[in-house]
Amino acid sequence: MPSYEAVIGLEVHVQARTESKMFCSCANRFGAEPNTLVCPVCMGYPGVLPTPNREAIRKIVTAGLMCSCDIQKKSKFDRKSYFYPDMPKNYQLTQYDMPFCLNGKVHISGVGFSGEPLPDKDIRLTRIHMEEDVAKLTHFGTHSGVDFNRAGVPLMEIVSEPDMRSPDEAYAYLTSLKQIIQYADISDCDMEKGQMRCDVNISLRERGAEKFGTKVELKNLNSFRAVHRAISYEIQRQILVLNDGGVIEQETRGWNDDSGESYTMRGKENAHDYRYFPEPDLLPVIFTDEDIENFKRNLPELPEARRARFVKDFEITPYDAQVLTQEKPCAEYFEAAASKSKAPKLVANWIIAELMRELAESGKDFTNCPLSPENLAEMVDLIHNGTINGKIGKTVFAEMYATNKKPADIIKEKGLVQVSDEGAILKFVEEAIAANPTQVQQYKDGRKNVVQFFVGQVMKASRGKANPQTVLKLLTEKLDA
Ligand code: ADP
Ligand code: ZN
Ligand code: MG
Repeated sequence: MPSYEAVIGLEVHVQARTESKMFCSCANRFGAEPNTLVCPVCMGYPGVLPTPNREAIRKIVTAGLMCSCDIQKKSKFDRKSYFYPDMPKNYQLTQYDMPFCLNGKVHISGVGFSGEPLPDKDIRLTRIHMEEDVAKLTHFGTHSGVDFNRAGVPLMEIVSEPDMRSPDEAYAYLTSLKQIIQYADISDCDMEKGQMRCDVNISLRERGAEKFGTKVELKNLNSFRAVHRAISYEIQRQILVLNDGGVIEQETRGWNDDSGESYTMRGKENAHDYRYFPEPDLLPVIFTDEDIENFKRNLPELPEARRARFVKDFEITPYDAQVLTQEKPCAEYFEAAASKSKAPKLVANWIIAELMRELAESGKDFTNCPLSPENLAEMVDLIHNGTINGKIGKTVFAEMYATNKKPADIIKEKGLVQVSDEGAILKFVEEAIAANPTQVQQYKDGRKNVVQFFVGQVMKASRGKANPQTVLKLLTEKLDA
C-alpha cells in the first residue's frame, strides 16, 4: 500500500470586535434578545445604502500587517449572490478579486497538540478579506428561527495556502492565529460565541508526489480540538477509500463531534455559482503609503516577539515563555509581576505551577484574577530574600488568593517569618537527633539521605518556619560530628 501525505488548507472567519456593525450603526454585541439589534440596512430592506465602518477596516488591516500581508492600496467590495433565509438581500457584501490583504504568513513551532515536536515553519496566507456576517438560523423541530442581530457584523476571512501536513500543524496554526488576533485586540476569538469559525480543506497525495489530490471541505467545526479530531478522522477515511481502489469525490462534509464522524453535506454538482460583481453602492477603498505607515506605527507586539523578549529580559526558558504568552492577559500579568520582582524566574514558576491551577479550580482567568501582580511579586521577593521559605509561601499564596492582602501583612498576622537564627534552629536539630537514635545509626552506617528525614522533623517542629538551608547545614554538622 502506498504511503500518503495530508495536504490541509484552512479558511478561518473572525468577527472584528467593534462598537457597531459593518455597514450600519446597529450595535455589534453577542447575546442580546433575537432581532433587537437590527435596522433596515442589516435586515436587507430595498433601497437602503451601506456606510463602511472605519474601525472594522482598521482592524482587518491590522490583522493583515500582524500576519505580514501586503496591504492593497486599492480594494473594493463585491456582491456574492445566493438565496438562503440568512440573507434577505440575496447577496452578501464581501471582497472578491481585490481584498484588503494578500500574501501573509503565520509562523508555527514548538510542541504540537499531540505532544510531538512541530516543524519550524511558516504557513502562508493567500489573503484576508472582509465581509458582512449573515443572520443566525436556529432550527426547532419543523420550524426555523432567524436572528438578525448577527447580520452585518464585520467578519474577516483568513484563507491559508494548503501548507499544513498534519492535524497538529493545523491546530498550531489556529492557535498562533488566535493569539495574534487577540494580541492585536481585533477579536476575543471566542468560538462558543461564534467569534471565530473554521472550515478545513483536506486532500491526500502519495508521499513524494507534487500534484495535490482532490480536496474535501469540512464544516461545522466548533473547537480547535474538533478540528484536530476531524482532520485525523478524514485522513483515515480518505486512506480507506484510496486503498480500496476508490477515488475521493470533491464535496463538502459536515463534522459530528458527538459521533466523531464526518458526513456528506453536498457534492460538487451542488456547488454554488455566486455570480460575484462589484458593489455599486460602495466606493473602492484607497490607502496612501502614509495611511499604511500610520497603521504600521500603531501595531502591537507579536506574541512571538514577546516570547523572545521574556526569555531575554526575564531569563525564563522558551517553554515557560510559550506557556505564559499563550493568552495575552496572562502575558500581561506575568510582565507586570516580573518587572516588579527581583526574581522573575521564580515569578514564572509561581504563575505556572500555582496561579494557573488556582484560577482553573475557581473558574477564573487572568482577566479577573483576584490576586494582583504586585502582591505576587512582593511574595516572591520575600521568598527570594529568605524572609519566608517556599513552603510558607504556599500558605501565604492561598491567603493572598482568597483576600489579596499584602503578603507582608499576612506574614505578620500569622507569625510566618522564616527562622534563620541558628540558635533557635539548633534547639530543634538537637531535639530531633535525640528523639531518633535508629535514624542516627542509619546515617552513621552510610545512608546519608536519612538526613532528609531529619530535615522533615525539624521543619515540622518549627511549624514550617525554619530556613531549610540552615536546617540542613546544622543537621549535617551535628550528624557528622
Ligand atoms: P475553492 O476554489 O474550492 O474555493 P481555493 O483554491 O480557493 O478553493 O482554496 C480554498 C481553501 O482550500 C484554501 O485554504 C486552500 O489552501 C485549500 N486548498 C486548495 N486546494 C487544496 C487541496 N488540494 N488540498 C487541501 N487544501 C486545498
Ligand atoms: Zn443595522
Ligand atoms: Mg475559493
